[in-house]
Amino acid sequence: MIGKGLIDGLVVTAKNFVGSYFDGDRKDRMFTYQYPEERMKLPENSRAFPFLVYDGTPDKMRCTACKICEIECPPQCIYIVMERDEKGKPLTRPKVFDIDLSVCMQCGICVEVCPFESIKMDCDFEMSRYGRFEPLQAHLPDLLKSNEYYHQIKSAEATAVDAGLKAEADKKAAKKAATPPPPPPPKPVATPAEIRAEEEKRAWQTGYQAPLGTGAIVWPPVKEKKKPVEAKPQAVEAKPEQSAGDAPWHDSGLDLAQRMEMAKDRSLADKLMAAMAQTDCSACGFDCRGYADALASGATKDLTLCVPGEDATKNMLENLLKEAGKL
Ligand code: SF4
Ligand code: SF4
Repeated sequence: MIGKGLIDGLVVTAKNFVGSYFDGDRKDRMFTYQYPEERMKLPENSRAFPFLVYDGTPDKMRCTACKICEIECPPQCIYIVMERDEKGKPLTRPKVFDIDLSVCMQCGICVEVCPFESIKMDCDFEMSRYGRFEPLQAHLPDLLKSNEYYHQIKSAEATAVDAGLKAEADKKAAKKAATPPPPPPPKPVATPAEIRAEEEKRAWQTGYQAPLGTGAIVWPPVKEKKKPVEAKPQAVEAKPEQSAGDAPWHDSGLDLAQRMEMAKDRSLADKLMAAMAQTDCSACGFDCRGYADALASGATKDLTLCVPGEDATKNMLENLLKEAGKL
């Protein structure tokens, strides 16, 4: 029937209008709240501005300063500086994390791209201030809020996040337990003097033991006997094989030039790894070794995933892959 929907709507309106005079305490009838004395409980998916989650105490913040949110934020209102120790080695946490609330458009993209479940949307919308500039800058101490607070405002979402983080931690622990122990350190290469001493010792033993076997005393030993005891080539060959899984450049305190120098005689995958930021922050979806192996094998072609390494890493990866004829 034409107009039925309109009539149904008017009936509901009339029922609530009249009903509110007789049954005024029913919250489903009275939609008006006497704000600010009276506040509505906001639904879980309401969102205002972002905040940073920490577990336990504020120094255990989840943020690794990987800067993905800073890069992806459409109006570019996030500013992050990574913390460094006294030697300049990067620590995987932010020293500065600012959000310009006058620019933030509450889109929640920072939340979607964060690989560490670190940044979440708050429900607190009461952000009016007496100034337009500095008062609307949210700094790291203002942004940090506990996981308990996250549970209070968005219980179902926070519970699902905790379960996901726990599953990931269990998976990492199982992988670590299944990884074989690192190979023993390479034996030192024998010096020529040591090789000569070893040859002489064996020669003497050969001559001394000969009468027990054949009855013939062979002394001084014949020269051909020296061949099996040539230890030098064996010791030299062992070096690259023993050091294959070893990555001395895996130290985020070294600069890119130092890391590349260390890896200059190594495989393509090793050189690619040396070009990464060495923070193992997983922003790329791997650790540094995993991302390097994926690029070397062609499993991924995206050179922009090492966010903490910024353009320097991207350019170096491009050069290395071009040199190797893979780009
Ligand atoms: S909510 Fe959107 S605009 Fe605001 S900080 Fe996050 S990504 Fe940027
Ligand atoms: S994406 Fe997440 S972990 Fe990375 S800087 Fe932003 S909040 Fe921190």
